[in-house]
Amino acid sequence: MRLRNVPGAREAIAASMYCYETPEDKKGLWHTQFGNNNPIHIEIGMGKGRFITELALKNPQINYIGIEKYSSVLLRALEKQEDLQLQNLCFIRMDAEDICRVFAPCEVARIYLNFSDPWPKDRHAKRRLTSMQFLARYKQILHPAGCLEFKTDNTDLFRFSLETAQAAPDWDLTAWTDDLHNDPMNEGNVMTEYEERFSSMGTPIHKMILKPNWKN
Ligand code: SAM
Repeated sequence: MRLRNVPGAREAIAASMYCYETPEDKKGLWHTQFGNNNPIHIEIGMGKGRFITELALKNPQINYIGIEKYSSVLLRALEKQEDLQLQNLCFIRMDAEDICRVFAPCEVARIYLNFSDPWPKDRHAKRRLTSMQFLARYKQILHPAGCLEFKTDNTDLFRFSLETAQAAPDWDLTAWTDDLHNDPMNEGNVMTEYEERFSSMGTPIHKMILKPNWKN
């Protein structure tokens, strides 16, 4: 994601009714915020929000929250939402490291990670959104019947993520593929911006699905 400093982005985000400046206040109260008991799905690192906006349009019976740490890209998602005004979609500008301050245990039914930053240096492994440290955070907020879905073009990050998931006693790896677009797992797939870009260059897309395991 090219990160340009967009003048006025922070102010526009602060003024939007679709983005929460103090999301910690909603912890445990997200259903009240949406005004229904529909499941809550979140996308972490949603960039310009194409994927989550399309899902929100397709599935009005699900509440969606997009999380992004940079204002410049979040602003693009917000601009679309200001036009569409979907009642089941909102955004948070935050670093996912703080996710447990924003969601209560079991509050989230699904987590999407799409084309997450690879952080290739070993010393930065903890920052990868599929690291053991992040999986532990997700386990705290995910409903026991929930799941985590991860897609990437990056083979090294995918191998790391598979190995991490297989070594995590409190997660089950339920499905994965090294070529999503030529696999039955592709049924109903919604493409992200990065996915469109990489697959149009012929790069295969990897995907895995994890479920929390409460037996251990
Ligand atoms: N998901 C989009 C897609 O597939 O088109 C964007 C992918 S882009 C490579 C990764 C995005 O994740 C960037 O917008 C980045 O700012 C965001 N991101 C990375 N680490 C994050 C974190 N710890 N918390 C929130 N957002 C993060």
